[in-house]
Amino acid sequence: MRIRTFEDYQEQYKKSVDDPEGFWGEVAQEFEWKKPWTKVLDWNFEEPNVKWFVGGKLNITENTLDRHVRERPNQPAIVWEPNEKEDESVTITYKVLHERVSRFANVLKGHGVEKSDRICIYMPMIPELAIAVLACARIGAIHSVVFGGFSAKSIADRVNDANCKMIITTDGAFRGQKKIPMKETVDDALIGCPTVEKVIVATRTRTPISMIKGRDYWWEEEVKKVSADCPATEMDSEDPLFILYTSGSTGKPKGVVHTCGGYMVYSTYSFQNVFQYDPGDVYFCTADIGWITGHSYIIYGPLAAGATSIMFEGVPTYPDAGRFWDIVERHKVNIFYTAPTAIRSLMGFGKEFWENKDLSSLKVLGSVGEPINEEAWHWYNDNIGKGNCTICDSWWQTETGGIMISPLANITPTKPTFATLPLPGVQPELVDEKGEVIEGNGVNGNLVIKFPWPSIIRTTWGDHDRCKQVYFSTYKHKYFTGDGCMRDEDGYYRITGRVDDVINVSGHRIGTAEVEDALNSHTGVVESAVVGYPHDIKGQGIFAYIIMESQVHEEDLMKRDILATVTRIIGPIAKPDQILFVSGLPKTRSGKIMRRILRKIAEGDVSSLGDTSTLLDPSVVEEIKEKAGL
Ligand code: ATP
Ligand code: MG
Repeated sequence: MRIRTFEDYQEQYKKSVDDPEGFWGEVAQEFEWKKPWTKVLDWNFEEPNVKWFVGGKLNITENTLDRHVRERPNQPAIVWEPNEKEDESVTITYKVLHERVSRFANVLKGHGVEKSDRICIYMPMIPELAIAVLACARIGAIHSVVFGGFSAKSIADRVNDANCKMIITTDGAFRGQKKIPMKETVDDALIGCPTVEKVIVATRTRTPISMIKGRDYWWEEEVKKVSADCPATEMDSEDPLFILYTSGSTGKPKGVVHTCGGYMVYSTYSFQNVFQYDPGDVYFCTADIGWITGHSYIIYGPLAAGATSIMFEGVPTYPDAGRFWDIVERHKVNIFYTAPTAIRSLMGFGKEFWENKDLSSLKVLGSVGEPINEEAWHWYNDNIGKGNCTICDSWWQTETGGIMISPLANITPTKPTFATLPLPGVQPELVDEKGEVIEGNGVNGNLVIKFPWPSIIRTTWGDHDRCKQVYFSTYKHKYFTGDGCMRDEDGYYRITGRVDDVINVSGHRIGTAEVEDALNSHTGVVESAVVGYPHDIKGQGIFAYIIMESQVHEEDLMKRDILATVTRIIGPIAKPDQILFVSGLPKTRSGKIMRRILRKIAEGDVSSLGDTSTLLDPSVVEEIKEKAGL
């Protein structure tokens, strides 16, 4: 299933479109199934109802663990890099991981967890998090990982949405200089979570915490009581594997459901091909397992491929802004995958943090989560990749389960800020507001996918109608991504931001990302966020929130300079009508700007800012409101 050349890619792509069942049937052969499927694909996008590898039986952990225990037992599966730079990293081989997962799966069983029970996992980035995830999968329990930075209320909302039976957590967490309570936050959440019967607590910080008899149990004690042998439960291809809530950039998070067979096939296929993983490569994805990137590309994809996956507990700026590069140097990382928000934050620090580090092991650099602006792309390419690494700007979503549009490392010719071409099996289309397909190249539109791929969202937990409404109703017979997109003269795709973020200025469609790119290239601008607002003459006007390196003394003059830069780069049409200098932007805990809040403020309406529970720092909103005079 490994693509080696651009011709291979074109051939595989063609086959995947002409004969999707034949294509994916062949890819799926490379996995271990307990029972083969009877039909590769059954689908309609009306209900929607999509089934891949119909009737097939498997357990994903036999593919991520047992298979490798036979073939490469002593190869590191997970290398854990702790928060403190001085602390030794921990290497867990496939054999040891298999044992630890089996043991913990037996603990779950002993506490009454059965197939299809929902289990909430609220943990920092320690090996026990990956072990808990895989232990659920081992026995067919559905994991719902909640990012370890969320509040008690956010945990409770998610636990109740899925009626979780158990929460797995730790006493506390280390994040940079901070020590963060975990069990205490879970205790607060539990006040409003009637379905939770048991809590298992792994030790990390040894913070004093309350432990209630008959409900709360220590991980370390429990694993001593059980055997290290746990047969993998037979799962149907279409049994749910996990629920994961979207990051909430655009509204109330949705409980996206992925199933066992298709998700396994696609996360692994995309991992191997996008990053061109070769046996022995060391791979480091900086995402948190609380997000889909961590699910698909720290745990499932890499482990099914038999890779060595680095798991990092800390933050990119602790003890200093060179931490990622220290890890790359220390572990001789070959493939590195991060987010534009991290790149932008590290760019601001001096050369001394990367210049003298040995980054020569790197072959591939990935980016995901947002459009990567041109400046960040070049910084990443020049300073980290030294011009020798493919930048895989990978576009995908929680709902897609795996990477959809991305360069294949060293195969697809890249272009800054372009996610380039779809992976085999992915059939993108651009449509206009009315749903008419926009043919040809050099065009802009809304990005839809017209045919299922194996890891497409199956439902939103407990509310299938929401799934239908959000993704399958805007355009008939198509999966709607919610993202705006441009296809250039070469047929390359560039994501221009959320559809809501495409601003229509006097009839011209302008992507917010494009304007932000231009703003960010102005000297002294650290970051910017652009939104549209109602404008009497133009229909929509452009409102820019800008963070400057240092305080602006002559605001008017600075604004005029900035407008001149935008005019030079895009043209006068893209000049913001209003600029507001701010010291921070409202970001979700996954680092994305919550533009709907900025939109409300630009409209002058702060009465209903909606769900802000996924914001990292709500006080930013107050400051911006004040600056805007609201
Ligand atoms: P919600 O759906 O709750 O609003 P979210 O969309 O931020 O949250 P995710 O599934 O984590 O939740 O993010 C997917 C979105 O991230 C995509 O729809 C797209 O807007 C953006 N994105 C991801 N990767 C890229 C990329 N390489 N280039 C541009 N945008 C990207
Ligand atoms: Mg989304």
